[in-house]
Amino acid sequence: MFSDIRKEIRDLKDEEKSGLKFVRFENDKLRADIGHLTQIVEALWELLKEETRLDDGQLSARLKELKERGDPEPDTCRHCERPLPLSGNRCIYCSAEINSIRVF
Ligand SMILES: [Zn+2]
Repeated sequence: MFSDIRKEIRDLKDEEKSGLKFVRFENDKLRADIGHLTQIVEALWELLKEETRLDDGQLSARLKELKERGDPEPDTCRHCERPLPLSGNRCIYCSAEINSIRVF
């Protein structure tokens, strides 16, 4: 299986390889961002537990409740109709300006 994937990658044209490099770069950047955000959430949760009477059980119950509600449909770009990012003022796919961003 992996050898097939390697062969497919070897067969890619130079332009496709640079696209793949870009995707890998973006993927690595997103992973780093997620790791950083996870640390921030953990720090905030520790502070909340120290300053309030909240505990891990209450957090787990709230997470379960949110999951049961289901994910809301993402807002879509008026220009390309792809899902909009949660932050920023431009569509990440077509760069169209975004007039409003949903907070949650
Ligand atoms: Zn767009």
